[in-house]
Amino acid sequence: MKKSVIMTTLKKKIRERNYKFTMQRQIILQAFLDSKENHLSAEDVFALIHDSNPDIGLATVYRSLELFTSLELVKKLDFGDGRNRYELNDHNLAHSHHHLICLGCGKVVEFSYNFLDDLKKKVKKENAFNIVDYQLKFYGYCSVCEKNNLVQRKKILAR
Ligand SMILES: [Zn+2]
Ligand SMILES: [Zn+2]
Repeated sequence: MKKSVIMTTLKKKIRERNYKFTMQRQIILQAFLDSKENHLSAEDVFALIHDSNPDIGLATVYRSLELFTSLELVKKLDFGDGRNRYELNDHNLAHSHHHLICLGCGKVVEFSYNFLDDLKKKVKKENAFNIVDYQLKFYGYCSVCEKNNLVQRKKILAR
């Protein structure tokens, strides 16, 4: 989906809930659209916008992210490292996705599988429960860390 289309949707959602679509809020949302990394902490957002917008403080970023979370524009994510990350809610994007979290280097990779839609249907049918949202997190080791782990294990064995 085009960035401008997503921004228009976000703007509409903010106004629908009787909040103002301020320049600051737009700049913070734009940081998510422009960033290559989908999962940003408040500090990440602050660092991204600070050079061109030195008047927006970290406290404003925090407050805006909390507001966006309550309006369901963004999702607050916990990858288990004690730092909240935020990402644009899937409802505003085309696809739904889940996360693979590396315990070695902290890298987060996104993945999506269609079989989860089948699972949703099955749950609905068998449990009379309509799932509207879900998050799947797999913790493990990425290929680089897995290789390092193997090397380390071999070293220990060779001792
Ligand atoms: Zn890793
Ligand atoms: Zn994600």
